[in-house]
Amino acid sequence: MLKINQNYLNLKDSYLFSTVARKVSEYTSKNPGKRVIRMGIGDVTLPLCEAVTEALHTAVDEMSGAETFRGYGPEQGYDFLRAAIRDYYARRGVELGEDEVFVSDGAKSDTGNILDIFSRENTVLIPNPVYPVYLDTNIMDGRQIKFMNAGEHNGFLPLPDESLKADIIYLCSPNNPTGAVYDRESLGKWVAFAKANGSIILFDAAYEAFVSDPNLPRSIFEIEGARECAIEFGSLSKTAGFTGLRCGYVVLPRTVKFQEKELGALWLRRQTTKFNGTAYIIQRAAAAVFSPEGQEQTGRQLAYYRENAGIITQALSELGVWHTGGAHSPYVWLKCPGGMSSWDYFDFLLENANVVGTPGAGFGSGGEGYFRLTAFGEKQATIEAMRRVKETFR
Ligand code: PLP
Repeated sequence: MLKINQNYLNLKDSYLFSTVARKVSEYTSKNPGKRVIRMGIGDVTLPLCEAVTEALHTAVDEMSGAETFRGYGPEQGYDFLRAAIRDYYARRGVELGEDEVFVSDGAKSDTGNILDIFSRENTVLIPNPVYPVYLDTNIMDGRQIKFMNAGEHNGFLPLPDESLKADIIYLCSPNNPTGAVYDRESLGKWVAFAKANGSIILFDAAYEAFVSDPNLPRSIFEIEGARECAIEFGSLSKTAGFTGLRCGYVVLPRTVKFQEKELGALWLRRQTTKFNGTAYIIQRAAAAVFSPEGQEQTGRQLAYYRENAGIITQALSELGVWHTGGAHSPYVWLKCPGGMSSWDYFDFLLENANVVGTPGAGFGSGGEGYFRLTAFGEKQATIEAMRRVKETFR
C-alpha cells in the first residue's frame, strides 16, 4: 500500500496570513464604516515599470511571429538574462561566470528545491524568527533542525558560535521579517565558520536591492571565501514588482565543491530534470529590469517604498518604541508596547487604529512580542496609518 511522506505530518499548519485575513474580514463586517489600512502581507503595490511592460509587449509580439516564436528554452535561463544578471553583479564588484547564474521562477521555489542536492542526513541551522519556508522545506525532508536565536541582544543578527555547528546554514539579509542587515565583518565570520566546518551557507538576498549604504554587503559573494561555501538566492519580486510575474535566480559559483563534486553541476542536473525553464516573456521582462532604464525606474519604486519605511521608523522613534529594519529593508520590526504578545498587539492595532500588521510569532517563537509593518503600501495610507498608531499611544 502507498506510504505517504510522514514528514508532512510534522508540519505545523500555517495559519498566519489566513488568520490575519479572517480577523480583518470579521472586523470589517462588524464595522463597515471603518477604513482599514493593510501593512501586513509583504506584497508590492506599485505596478510594473515602463521598461518592463515594454519588454513584455515586445516579447508577446515575438511569440506571435513564426520566425521569432520560442518554444522550450534552456532550463537554466536564456543567455541574455544570465549575462544581464552577471553584469548586475559585476557593477557591484562581484565577478561571476554566466554559467554560475541559474534563472528560475522565484526564490521561494529555489530555496526549497535546492535541498534536493543535499543529503537528508545533513543538519540545518535556521534563524529564529525568519521567513518560514526554510523551516517547512527541511521538515518535509525530515532533516535535523537547529535554531539560532535572533533577538534584541544581537540586533536580530545572530553570529556563529561552536554550539551552532551545522551542515546547512541559512542566512537572510536584509532579513524577513526583521529588516536587519548583516555588515561585511559579520558575514565574514559566517563564511569563516562555514569553511572551518565544511558547511554550506544558503544566502537569501531577496531584499538586496533595498540596501542603499555601499558599506553594507548586498551579496555574500562580496565576502572573501564565500565562493567556496555559499549559494545565493535572488528575486525580482520585491526589487521590480515581479511577485505576480515570477522570476528569480540562484548564484552558484563553480568553486563550491563538496566531496569533490561541483554543487553547480548537481543543481543543473536537478533543474534540467525537474524544471523546464522560466517563460521567455518573463525572462525578457527580467532582463529589462537590469537595463539602464529598468534600473532607473525600479530605483524610483524602491525609493518610494524606502520613503514609506522612513515614515514608519520616524513615527516609532518619536514614540520611543524599540524597532529595527526599515533603513535597508521594506520591513520594520517593532517591539509590541506594554509587553503585549504579538497577536494581542495585532488585535489592539486593528481595533484601535484600524491598521493591520503581521504578528512576529508567525515567523517563529523568537518573533513573539514583536510585530512587522511593511512599507509596500501607498504613501498617504502609510502616513495616515502612522498618525493613527501615534494616537493609540495617547
Ligand atoms: N525569500 C524571502 C526572505 C522572502 O521574504 C520571500 C517572499 O516574501 C521570498 C524569498 C520569495 O520570493 P519569490 O517571490 O521570488 O519566490
